Amino acid sequence: MLSRYGSVPFLRRRSSRRTLDADVIVVGAGPAGAAAAKYTAAAGLSVLLLDRAEFPRDKICGDFVGPRALIELARLGVSNRPSFKRTNLIRQAAVYVNGKEILSKGVPAAPGAPGFARVIPRETLDNWLADEARASGAVILEDHRLTGFELREDAIELKVLARGRPTRFRAGLVIGADGSRSTVARFLVSETSTRRKDQVLAVRAYFADVQQVHDRAELYFSSESFPGYCWMFPTGGDTANVGLGMLDQTLPPKSERLRDTLERLIQRDPILRQRLGSARLIGKIVGWPLSTYNPRYPVIGPRMMLVGDAAGLINPLNGEGIYQALASGGWAADAAIQCARKGDFSSSALLPYAQKVKDELMSDMLVARALMELIRNRNFAPFWLAGLQVIGKRSMRDPLYGYLFGGILAGVVSARRALTAGMMADTIHEALWSTGLKGLIKAVKNPTRTLRVGLKGSMTLRDIVRQSTANPASTFHWSLDVMRSLVELSGDVLRIGPA
Ligand SMILES: Cc1cc2nc3c(=O)[nH]c(=O)nc-3n(C[C@H](O)[C@H](O)[C@H](O)COP(=O)(O)OP(=O)(O)OC[C@H]3O[C@@H](n4cnc5c(N)ncnc54)[C@H](O)[C@@H]3O)c2cc1C
Repeated sequence: MLSRYGSVPFLRRRSSRRTLDADVIVVGAGPAGAAAAKYTAAAGLSVLLLDRAEFPRDKICGDFVGPRALIELARLGVSNRPSFKRTNLIRQAAVYVNGKEILSKGVPAAPGAPGFARVIPRETLDNWLADEARASGAVILEDHRLTGFELREDAIELKVLARGRPTRFRAGLVIGADGSRSTVARFLVSETSTRRKDQVLAVRAYFADVQQVHDRAELYFSSESFPGYCWMFPTGGDTANVGLGMLDQTLPPKSERLRDTLERLIQRDPILRQRLGSARLIGKIVGWPLSTYNPRYPVIGPRMMLVGDAAGLINPLNGEGIYQALASGGWAADAAIQCARKGDFSSSALLPYAQKVKDELMSDMLVARALMELIRNRNFAPFWLAGLQVIGKRSMRDPLYGYLFGGILAGVVSARRALTAGMMADTIHEALWSTGLKGLIKAVKNPTRTLRVGLKGSMTLRDIVRQSTANPASTFHWSLDVMRSLVELSGDVLRIGPA
């Protein structure tokens, strides 16, 4: 296959051994890969889009397509389809803590973003995206699994199992869009063991005959599922996507399987029981990891870029990854087109892509990462859940606060901008007050209540101290991780100034 990109000297030059099979090979035809393939092919590059699956294929996901992702889908041309317009609209969201509603609001409208979201099963959405890439000229090769690479001076050579048969493809550049267990990322980042720390594990199932409000997304927090939460996203009619996501590595470790926790919550949580008590499970409860951002890992290498989940771009605060996948696919395509013009796919030529990821996403990711490190310690779960209740109550009485919190959940407000030091201090103060520790503060002011209220507070404190000292080594490592994430965050504050 010859390049259709006439002005690319690099591509006109033929290797002494073999010509290129494509200017760009994109590995993985999910949202990130389809977006990257569509934009590079539309610019005239020859593009191969490989996927190990055959389409349409399912992808384990909550299917919640937030307002920013909807803008990206419109850019890609997906939203013009009549069937897209029939997908389920979400206009409201509610948050529950231990069976009590703490917040119910409309999806916040942000400048340039619609005040609604959609729930689109990925089997359908990803098929539309692949169609868009194909329509722009990308050649899609299904049942083609990448197994390895060889980096050459004049190309990158991909080892692929093509419908079970080993074969090789050569390209100027590879874009790794192969998801959270990315083979391309493993080539760039060898520390696979530490990557587990950045992971959220999640399970998901579809249910029919659900008692639900059709345009309302619901999140359920509870002591049993913390640090994590359950979701219920209506997919249209009486069906819903229901799931549970939790941090993979917690302190103390969680021994129960996630699907067992989800099944138990469906039986015991009063709201989930009401919604799903007479519902029917469609298929199975299935799980998959979500990979979140780690600033130490590169997103580029010689002749390589990582996009979407392969680059760890999921926002752990709300589990959103489709927006970041679509957007990073677009940014990578921009860089690829520029590099093709210059005939240079070296790491330094690809730097603008890494810089774009940093500029657009890093600040929020570092805030999320610091919060993730804090809540990883389940000994403090009562305190974090009380904090959520405080946030919920305050959001209902203070419209700006409510807008910011709802906006972070919907992905339309920057967490870094919203979570100012003042807002955090207020929230922490109110949370301390409501966990029972307030008894200690009140005791100083009102000694007659010391015994009754102070005892309650000191019990909460005593439990936390007892559990934390039960495993001092793990607690020490956790403290170091929290400090490291705070140092990363401070570095970012110094880089771009306070919010
Ligand atoms: C349970 C769960 C719930 C989630 N809920 C939401 C949600 O509600 N909203 C949201 O925005 N995000 C959600 N996410 C995150 C979202 O699913 C991802 O961020 C998104 O799919 C990332 O897109 P991607 O294109 O980077 O990767 P993927 O969608 O994972 O696509 C990767 C593609 O690469 C292919 N592939 C993998 N390895 C190879 C290989 N070696 N060779 C060839 N092809 C390969 C795969 O077949 C796949 O098609 C959820 C994730 C999980 C696990």
